[in-house]
Amino acid sequence: MDFVIVGGGLAGVTAARTLRALDPHAGITVLEAEPTPYYLRPGLIDVLAGRKALPEITPFPRAWYEHRGIAYRSGTPAVSLSPGTHRVEVASGESIPYDRLLLSPGAEALVPEIPGVQVPGAFTFRSAADAERIRTWAEGSRRAAVIGGGWLGIESARALRDLGLSVTLLERGPWLLCRQLDEGAATVLAGLLAAQGIEVKTGAISEAILGDSQVRGVRLEGGEVVNADLVLISAGIRPRTGLAAAAGLAVGRGIVVDDHLATSAPDVYAAGDGAEWRGKVYGIVPAAREQGEAAARNMLARGSVTYGGTAPSNRLKVAGVDLLCLGNTQPQGGALRELRAAEPEKGRYAKFVLGPEGELAGAILLGLPELAPPVEGLLEAGIPAEDDLRRLLAW
Ligand SMILES: Cc1cc2nc3c(=O)[nH]c(=O)nc-3n(C[C@H](O)[C@H](O)[C@H](O)COP(=O)(O)OP(=O)(O)OC[C@H]3O[C@@H](n4cnc5c(N)ncnc54)[C@H](O)[C@@H]3O)c2cc1C
Repeated sequence: MDFVIVGGGLAGVTAARTLRALDPHAGITVLEAEPTPYYLRPGLIDVLAGRKALPEITPFPRAWYEHRGIAYRSGTPAVSLSPGTHRVEVASGESIPYDRLLLSPGAEALVPEIPGVQVPGAFTFRSAADAERIRTWAEGSRRAAVIGGGWLGIESARALRDLGLSVTLLERGPWLLCRQLDEGAATVLAGLLAAQGIEVKTGAISEAILGDSQVRGVRLEGGEVVNADLVLISAGIRPRTGLAAAAGLAVGRGIVVDDHLATSAPDVYAAGDGAEWRGKVYGIVPAAREQGEAAARNMLARGSVTYGGTAPSNRLKVAGVDLLCLGNTQPQGGALRELRAAEPEKGRYAKFVLGPEGELAGAILLGLPELAPPVEGLLEAGIPAEDDLRRLLAW
């Protein structure tokens, strides 16, 4: 059987590895738009900060794919798809037949609709090329503004700080990471970032990026101007759905898949940041990996694996700030019980969300790396855990 994978990022490479492990004879072709082989996208933060070079976050050299009989074709974007004839066309005009196809095109950075996003010195951050561009611009800059206080925005702010820039982090919500953290945890986090020289402004709605030939700042709603000669926009992701939509596949925010990661077209599957499952686009590594593997198994044997969602897990990779969010940390409706403890002056905060049977449903751990292993264990076990959790809080 011939398998073609559009998008050689984490989901696509996981699928290729799974297919090869399960079927030594399958034809496997990965089409990748970027010029380089697959690299670990989260490692781009270290590339931006100058701590690592691209080869250090590239897990498999070209020989690795060749040795396994996987045709990894970088610099080869797929431009159209014909589900009726089971073919994919690439930019050179070549038409590639498939028996089963995986769409794993990932996402691009979301660009807010504000004036000035195209002014030189304003960037989004998704690829190795972006990291290089931002780094080069940063060399001639002194002040940066980061629009968006999510995980990537915070980590990027720290990377820019490491490059010697003074940094202001602009978050439109009432506090940082407001979908995962409660206000108490976010206040401790903002304090830790301030101690690293990163100024955090919340409730800061960016209205325009200022400058003509190059950026000179961000104007906030209310008129305040944050001066900056580099602006990094980190406002979320937009799944790449263009190819699928043009071919008539069902598309919502992402490429719509069912519980087998199958799209609305026969023999076409989707996984990763580009896929929408039960209305959710996860946009995180664990989901891309799990979906890539499940999709590959179903591509080999239809309907053999049911994907049931991915438990969210996020760890902030900022030196000196140990933040881990697991599971459901901000339950809607307030029906679930919570246990908390805080020691803000020591940068410590813990919150546990309990499910109806007293099992652990979600956890925030800030400044408490030693609690991560037992808490991860309790979350996975799904058994009543209130007594154990109370003991963990008595630090
Ligand atoms: C700087 C950064 C840091 C991050 N840190 C974390 C983290 O710490 N933890 C975490 O959980 N998540 C993190 N993420 C998110 C994580 O990287 C993504 O969830 C993950 O990469 C998704 O994998 P994917 O394979 O779906 O998409 P991608 O990694 O985006 O890969 C998709 C690939 O498809 C290619 N492609 C697109 N269209 C085509 C086409 N038409 N033809 C051929 N190829 C195409 C793209 O070039 C791309 O290489 C981070 C993201 C960034 C940008």
